[in-house]
Order: sequence, then C-alpha cells, then structure tokens
Amino acid sequence: MAARADIIVVGGGPAGYVAALRAARLGARVALVERDGLGGTCLQRGCIPSKALLEVARALRALGRFREMGVRVGAWELDLEQVRRWRDRPVRLLARGVEALLGAAGVEVIRGEARLEAPGRVAVRLPEGEEARLEGRWLLLATGSLPAPLPACAGAACWDSDRALALPEVPSRLAVIGGGPVGVELGSVYAALGSRVTVVEALPRLLPREDAEVGVALARSLERQGIAVLTGARLARLEAPQGAGFVLHLEPAPGAAAGGPVRLEADRVLVAVGRRPAVAGLGLARLGLPEGWIEVDDEGRTAVPGVLAAGDVTGRVLLAHAASAQGIAAVEAALGHPRTVRLDLIPSCTFTWPEVASVGLTEEAARARGWDVLVGRFPFSASGRAAAAGEREGFVKVVADRGTRRLLGVHIFGPDASTLIHEAALALAAGLTLSDVERTVHAHPTLSEAFGEACLAAEGRALHLPAGRPGDAGGSAL
Ligand code: FAD
Repeated sequence: MAARADIIVVGGGPAGYVAALRAARLGARVALVERDGLGGTCLQRGCIPSKALLEVARALRALGRFREMGVRVGAWELDLEQVRRWRDRPVRLLARGVEALLGAAGVEVIRGEARLEAPGRVAVRLPEGEEARLEGRWLLLATGSLPAPLPACAGAACWDSDRALALPEVPSRLAVIGGGPVGVELGSVYAALGSRVTVVEALPRLLPREDAEVGVALARSLERQGIAVLTGARLARLEAPQGAGFVLHLEPAPGAAAGGPVRLEADRVLVAVGRRPAVAGLGLARLGLPEGWIEVDDEGRTAVPGVLAAGDVTGRVLLAHAASAQGIAAVEAALGHPRTVRLDLIPSCTFTWPEVASVGLTEEAARARGWDVLVGRFPFSASGRAAAAGEREGFVKVVADRGTRRLLGVHIFGPDASTLIHEAALALAAGLTLSDVERTVHAHPTLSEAFGEACLAAEGRALHLPAGRPGDAGGSAL
C-alpha cells in the first residue's frame, strides 16, 4: 500500500528541503525523496564546498600580502589531504543540520530515486533495491541541475565542476572553458593553489549576465592576479594525447571582434559552460510534461494540476537562494498562503577577488527596456575603509530612472560585495530612490559608504570624488 502525504517533494536541495520545512511548519504532512546527500548540489557539490576552497585561496592570498603589512612569515606548503578535510567539514556539519531540521519538523525523509507514475503518485527505488510507493495531493519537483557537457570535449577526460571540487590534484596548467561564475570562482581557487589558469569565454566578456563594466573590470583584475583570460574565443577541437595533457584549439566565437586561432596546452581542462535539468529517468512524460527545464508560473505551478516545480530544474534563476524562495512560494500558494517572489530582484554574487554582486537591471538591460537611465559610480579607491584594508580595486555602480530617480539596478565589484549588495536589494525591493539611499547616513569608515556616494554621484554630487566628475552616463568605472 502507498504511504500518504499532503505534499511529496522530490529532491532535497535548497528548493526541496526548504519547501518541505515550510510546508511542514504550515501543518502539511510532507514526504521528501532524495537519492543523494541532503542539501543538494549547493551543499554537496556547489556553494559550500566551493566557498570552503575559496577560503583556502583567500588565506593564501592574505599570505602574499603579509610582507606589505609588515608581517614576515616563513615558507608554506600545501597539504592537499588536509585541504580536502577542510572542504568536507562544513558539508558534513550542514548536511547533519538539514537532516535534524527536517526530522524536528516531522518531514519524512525517504532515501532513494524517485520515479513519477502519475500526478501525485511516486515510486521510490530504495537503496536496498526494494520499491516504496507514495501518494500525495501535491507533488513538488525540485530535482535541480547537473553540469552541462561540451560537445568538443566528448570522450576526453575533462573535469566538470563536481570533479574540480573533488580536488584530485593541482595541475600545473588548467584551462577553464566558460567564464561564468563557476568558471571564474574555480579558476581563482586553482590559481591560488598554484595552477597556471587560462579562462576561455566565448562571449565578449566574463560574467556575461553581469553589467558590462563588471565583466571587463574582473578580467583585468584576474589578469593582474596571473590568470589569463581569453574572451570571444571558443573551443573548436580538443586533442588529448595519451598521458600528455591536452591541446586546445580555440577559434574566434561567432561575432567576436577580432583574433585568429589559438593553440593552448593544458594539463587539465575544466568545462564550466552551464547546467542542464536533472530530469533523466524521472518520468516527466508520464505526467504529460516535456523532457527538459520544467516551466512554471510565479507560484510554481506546472501545466499539470497538482504538480509544482521549484529551483534549478525550472531553469529560471540558477541560484540556491532563488531555489529556496521559489520552493517556499510554491508550497505556500498550494497551502493557501500565496506570495509573490520577485525573481527579478534576486541578488547574485560571484566570489572572486574582488567579489562581484548585483541586483536588478544592468545598465544595458535598463536601456534596452526603454528606461531613460541615470548612472552613478563610486570607486573603492576613494573609500577610506577600502584604503585601510589595502583593497582599492572596484566600484559601486547604480542605475536609476532619470525621471523618478528610483533605483533600477546596483552592481558592485569590490571587497565584500556579497555582503554589501543586500542594502541595495532591500532598496530595490522597497522601490527607494537615489536620495532615499544617500540620505540614509552610512557609518564611517565602512565599505557601505560607497553605495551612498554612488547614489550621490548619479546626481553629480559625490562628496569624495573631485568636483566636476559626475558619475553620469558618460562616465565609466574603467
Ligand atoms: P539541487 O541543489 O541540484 O538539488 C536537487 C536534488 O534533487 C539533488 O540533491 C538530487 O540528488 C535530487 N534528485 C534529483 N533527481 C532525483 C530523483 N529522481 N529522486 C530523488 N532525488 C533526486 N548558488 C548560489 O546561490 N551561491 C553560490 O555560491 C553557488 N555556488 C555554486 C558553485 C558551484 C560549483 C555550483 C555547481 C553551483 C553553485 N550554485 C550556487 C548554484 C546552486 O548550487 C543551485 O542553484 C542550487 O543547488 C539549486 O537548488 P535545487 O534545490 O534547485 O537543486
């Protein structure tokens, strides 16, 4: 006989487990099926292990600055086994925490692979090979995503992000195909650990979804750190001679400004060209849904009544906090507490040095949508706190509607951008204007002052920039 629940959640990542917790707290009987580790990609193979490794890289970077600070340290060496233990510790700890939270909330966690039989009916292949059956009024699909393959690498032993995070070795030369957040973060880790890294991006700049000035500034910064960046280039052919590393044949990407073929040698190749939906073998067709990204409305409803989806598998915003927000909204709507998630106001962070963070529209997107925009910039080179920390690179850029002065987007390239962005996210969510932010007194000396100054700069009134340097649309942070 099938076990019954109000909501069956398939997938225990940030979309699924958070939705399960919320639904249980609203009084629903929830069953959650997970075939792997709780916490999903984010905890097991994404956000957390990558940030643990970035922390090692950050420490190595700090070592390089000690002499400048007047601190002499002796020679250091890398103990890869200990680095892996450091990476695994938060993963273990947090996975245990998720399990405890689900248990305390009364969510029934079933370990196994889910196969959809019909709306509200799921079969689960348990680790021992038996099958369990579940029935529920609602079904929430939160199966996430997997690394997307690159045809040019078919058959070659290229790394994907899962493999790179496993840290099997530190290759002398690492080629990273893909200059999105995963490519530049992992490239930065391996560069700090000692690899000679080249990042290859087909589009004209790194982080193509970010504001154009940010991608260009990041490339310059990475190059100063010893990471080679090739934009407008794509992998045409990969040679993998037995035991002799790789030869990459690059060609200009369609539409690239200039450049000819490039031959690049590497000991390892990391493919970081995006994600694909994790739906193989799930049985979407039995529900009448097409294979691929699962389309949903703003309350997580698919085309099939009673079937909801949230997180990466919807292909909307591939970030953990977006997945959780979608998961919460989906179960709240199903249980009669609808709320709107502003996916257009999800902050996005890339943890390089300096960090990148943004919320809302880029300048290009705002103009393309017909806004008459006002732009303000404030460089961290003019910030007292950044100077004291020796972090003078980067800027805050604000994009506002010229008519109402309402903020449309904020883009930060600089120290602690991932923390600073939340004041901007709140400002955008609340519909605040340049003067609302600028009149909010920011404590000194803090990096946050740069946000207020960028808003003043948009009005041509920045106090800590030389007079006559309005950060208007004609200016540039570069
Ligand atoms: P997932 O986390 O992928 O979870 C889906 C779960 O479903 C998995 O545990 C899977 O095992 C399970 N599952 C799938 N099919 C079945 C089945 N048939 N039966 C049972 N279980 C199933 N995002 C950020 O916001 N910040 C970051 O810093 C960040 N860093 C990242 C770094 C890397 C290297 C990568 C790869 C991703 C990173 N992300 C980051 C993205 C983030 O990990 C994802 O957006 C997030 O995990 C999506 O959550 P999800 O719940 O939708 O899917």
